[in-house]
Amino acid sequence: MPTVYFVVPCYNEEEVLPETVKRLTKKLNGLMAAGMADEASRMLFVDDGSRDKTWEIIAAYTETNKYVAGVKLSRNRGHQNALLCGLMTAKEHCDCAISLDADLQDDIEVIDQFLEKYQEGCEIVYGVRSSREKDTVFKRSTAQGYYKFMKALGVDIVYNHADYRLMGKKALDALAEYREVNLFLRGIVPLIGYRCDYVYYERNERFAGQSKYPLTKMLKFAVDGITSFSVKPLKIISNLGIVICFLSIIGFIYALVSFFMGSAVAGWASTICSIWFLGGLQMLCIGIVGTYVGKIYSEVKHRPRYRIETTIINKE
Ligand code: UDP
Ligand code: MG
Repeated sequence: MPTVYFVVPCYNEEEVLPETVKRLTKKLNGLMAAGMADEASRMLFVDDGSRDKTWEIIAAYTETNKYVAGVKLSRNRGHQNALLCGLMTAKEHCDCAISLDADLQDDIEVIDQFLEKYQEGCEIVYGVRSSREKDTVFKRSTAQGYYKFMKALGVDIVYNHADYRLMGKKALDALAEYREVNLFLRGIVPLIGYRCDYVYYERNERFAGQSKYPLTKMLKFAVDGITSFSVKPLKIISNLGIVICFLSIIGFIYALVSFFMGSAVAGWASTICSIWFLGGLQMLCIGIVGTYVGKIYSEVKHRPRYRIETTIINKE
């Protein structure tokens, strides 16, 4: 029987935690009774530097419920870093880890299928949303457009899969070797390889509290996903540069010909237009190149991605 760890990043989740602990405990008990998880299995909550009572609640549960374990980060590091911290902590104790959000928007009933696939020998099982009916039109269209855009840029991500997945010990060990600072886990995991499979589920609405992913964070996450995994934007710039150079040569020849034919008119408007156009274009290009340079900068610093303040894991 495998030791299963649920890894749950939490940021200001005091409203949902009691219910989440209740539901996950029930699930874990069910799995243990069914012989799908052993007694050493745990729910590991990672407090991502919350400003509310999240950590106090987690710490209190660890006293009364031996299946609850907690890790507290020294400050808010964002969902991806908190999740990575949880997975790396779980790795030392488990056979497989299942990552899920604290709000239980992802249907926990499919965990059985995750574990069945794991028993069949899959190292990674992706939870994939079968529909997005419960999303707002805006979220649905932007998210789906984004997945398609990523594919077009040559990034290998699983369509409609977020961070609800099972990873076995081998996959977790592999994940530990990706040392990048700009974390985009759903881009890294497919790079790991090993046998994998997919489980389809319906995503629910948050049962309490607010989304911790405002539009600004979501945009940053989207840009990170592209610039961390694809160099196509750089190629597009180079190609654009080549095309513009070619066009300007034609323009230059045209100007020369009309000069020698005596029909040239001093074209202030066209000059000023091209200066503005090229100036803008150059700035855009420099900006994109700068994004990559910025990333190189943060990667070479090799800063630690998180620092644990306290770890509580109950043993028997
Ligand atoms: N989260 C986190 N750190 C952050 C933001 C979010 O650990 O800085 C956690 C949050 O507690 C939740 C998960 O990431 O467990 C997903 O967040 P949320 O449900 O708010 O995102 P949404 O489902 O709206 O995309
Ligand atoms: Mg959510």
